[in-house]
Amino acid sequence: MTTHHKNWAGNTAFNAARFHQPTTIADLQEVVHKADKVRVIGSRHCFNDIADTTGDLVSLNRLDNKITIDHQRPVATVNAGITYRQLCPQLHAAGYALHNMASLDHITVIGACMSATHGSGDALGNLATAVCGLEIISANGDLVTLTRDKDGDQFLGAVVALGALGVVTRVSLELLPAYAIQQQVYQKLPMTHIYDSFDAIMAAGYSVSLFPTWQEDYIDSVWIKQQVAEETEAPLAVPTTFFDAPLVPGGHTFGEAPDRHFTQMGTPGPWHELLPHFCLKDALQEGNELQSEYFVARRHAVDAIKVVAGLRQQLTPILTITEIRSVAADELWLSTAYGQDVVGIHFNWVKDWPAVQQFLPVLEEYLAPFAPRPHWGKLFAMAPAQVQTAYPRIADFQALAHHFDPEGKFRNAYVDRYIFGAA
Ligand SMILES: Cc1cc2nc3c(=O)[nH]c(=O)nc-3n(C[C@H](O)[C@H](O)[C@H](O)COP(=O)(O)OP(=O)(O)OC[C@H]3O[C@@H](n4cnc5c(N)ncnc54)[C@H](O)[C@@H]3O)c2cc1C
Repeated sequence: MTTHHKNWAGNTAFNAARFHQPTTIADLQEVVHKADKVRVIGSRHCFNDIADTTGDLVSLNRLDNKITIDHQRPVATVNAGITYRQLCPQLHAAGYALHNMASLDHITVIGACMSATHGSGDALGNLATAVCGLEIISANGDLVTLTRDKDGDQFLGAVVALGALGVVTRVSLELLPAYAIQQQVYQKLPMTHIYDSFDAIMAAGYSVSLFPTWQEDYIDSVWIKQQVAEETEAPLAVPTTFFDAPLVPGGHTFGEAPDRHFTQMGTPGPWHELLPHFCLKDALQEGNELQSEYFVARRHAVDAIKVVAGLRQQLTPILTITEIRSVAADELWLSTAYGQDVVGIHFNWVKDWPAVQQFLPVLEEYLAPFAPRPHWGKLFAMAPAQVQTAYPRIADFQALAHHFDPEGKFRNAYVDRYIFGAA
């Protein structure tokens, strides 16, 4: 199993009896057809057992990464196992862009969509909202195609599906004309402004991220990404203060990190280089962090932030940084932004699982009044029933999963627990 033995963070081992890297769709269909239990792994960046199986584990990383662009719509159709790092420079070179990116681009397109991975931006849906078509190998090994135009409701259930409907082989993504991004960092934004002017702060750019460590009464840094037409444009003039937070001229506040390069500040660059916050120096090196994230309805954002700020003392020994981002509402049944604009409160933990595990129920109890939805791919302690209550279409998703996979071939312990489990 070598590098596929564990997830990126090394905190979850895969229990698969067999590991496959097929080179053709026909071989992949054969693996699915023969398997009793099968799951796919992308870039292994989830922090929990969402991708695990005791049966056959498959990686699509040896399939052809051909990209087809329909210039009329415009839509790109790609092998589902492609990473954003492989895909985006090619889209950019062809004059196109995606609407948003996660904080790094090493993840696979389908792994990101299956878990409702997101970036930030008041008007920007998560990455799965760019999907307009899927090709899936169903339980009997047949290829099924679903599109947003033709398959309405079923399609809305299939895009964020935690791998529970089948093996996605091809994904179609809606494209935008290529654009550039310029990002700026402001430091030490007083919490009082977050409480009084949260909406204005989050609306200050195409994508805005707040990074508090909760150690002081300010947000340590605010990253504002503005859309610019061309990366060759002269840098936009930007204010030297933002809600009393001074601009960090030409730099960011995190400095150098042992495992990552942060993206450039102050001068415009291509969307796919500057929407992410960083790239890993070595994507195969085991990660030295754990992550959790909770999404609350936008109307609860400020109250939820106040609650977290009140937990400063408990957070101090186990937290490295928090990131607060906004995600626009969508209609994808298992999306963490289903039916409502949300704010994600993300926690980068030190790699001390016993301590984090002890704290998660405390944090979740404080956030409970805001009916939080946990990130599907990160660490949480919520009971399955509580998770299910947060998703109004959960019964429809269960029915869809039965329809696609009557014998439960694509179900694993995680899906059994959070989608079908009762307690
Ligand atoms: C350093 C770091 C930074 C991160 N930043 C962000 C961020 O900015 N925003 C955010 O929302 N999340 C973020 N995450 C979480 C990450 O984006 C998600 O965990 C995402 O799912 C990772 O994609 P992956 O390719 O690693 O998927 P995996 O973890 O490998 O798989 C995820 C799920 O997709 C399923 N799957 C994979 N391929 C297929 C397929 N072909 N068919 C069917 N199912 C499939 C798997 O079975 C599994 O259920 C971050 C994680 C790390 C480690």
